[in-house]
Amino acid sequence: MVDSYASITFVQAFEDTENELKNNLPPWEKATFSEKLYIFAIKSIILLPVIVVLFIISSTYTIYLAFYIIPILIDNNNRPEVYFWHTDSEKTSAAIRAIIFIIFLTWNIFWLLISLYKASKTDPGSIPRTLEWDIILEDSSESSTEKVTIEKRKDGSQRTCNHCQLRKPDRCHHCKQCDRCILKMDHHCNWIANCVGNNNYKYFFLVVFYGATSLILFVSTFWESVVICLCDDSNSEVFMLFIVTVYALVFLLSITVVAFMFFHIWLMWNNFSTIEFCEKKRAKSNNFDKSPYSQGAYNNFKENLGNNPLMWFLPFGYEKSKDSGLFFNTKKY
Ligand SMILES: [Zn+2]
Ligand SMILES: [Zn+2]
Repeated sequence: MVDSYASITFVQAFEDTENELKNNLPPWEKATFSEKLYIFAIKSIILLPVIVVLFIISSTYTIYLAFYIIPILIDNNNRPEVYFWHTDSEKTSAAIRAIIFIIFLTWNIFWLLISLYKASKTDPGSIPRTLEWDIILEDSSESSTEKVTIEKRKDGSQRTCNHCQLRKPDRCHHCKQCDRCILKMDHHCNWIANCVGNNNYKYFFLVVFYGATSLILFVSTFWESVVICLCDDSNSEVFMLFIVTVYALVFLLSITVVAFMFFHIWLMWNNFSTIEFCEKKRAKSNNFDKSPYSQGAYNNFKENLGNNPLMWFLPFGYEKSKDSGLFFNTKKY
């Protein structure tokens, strides 16, 4: 039995759903020792991207502290000529700058970790298991859908999910990895080991936002340490290579994350989900500025980040009503 499990590759494990994998396994209490090892391995694989994210956050923060902030603050270098600050006033202003930077970075990482936790732990939202959404009612009753227009296929039939046996609300999609329908599904994100949907999109966006601001700070200041490190010939070549490599990798990561942040700001501005954007792209539609759900930029941001603009950048104030994600206002163009 274990041998057949072992034939599943790492890649398949990522692509298969967690539920499918669980269904092929006995419950934890009844599992043998080797099966428990396998269950543990599968759970570890699913959590691996999250562990990678946490490793990147903690190692980048530690490197910034150890090789940028602390050398400025303790100022005990034996090669003062390679530093950018020489006089007492220059040293004082460099120290004040360093303290402001580390407070700013710590503040960003703090909210990044809370947002990551909430993005990962919040249920993205699923179709209620009520008669209203039961597939049997598809043609028999219109009463439950009076206040909304349920998205229809081109042939006029309602969207239904054959896996969940439920009618699909607008913007809802079935996630293969979660093995269920997700309300206002954006995409499945392995980095948070969760789907991004109606109830946790804000937290996901804040992960990207605080990740981007932290990376911008790192890239725009740590270059000083790179120059100092390269100019100080008392450093070993291995250390120089390490510092340059770290900076290059963080630089590339920052470009990716900042671009991703602006992409999501654009999506929110126009009230698209990532899936809807991809659908438009696949359909080769150039009408990217017109989502049928768009209610104007300000209302679109309110829908995605919460009603109170003062709370938009904090991972709170996003509690959703019972029928949130089921019905959407549509504006016809
Ligand atoms: Zn489904
Ligand atoms: Zn999912």
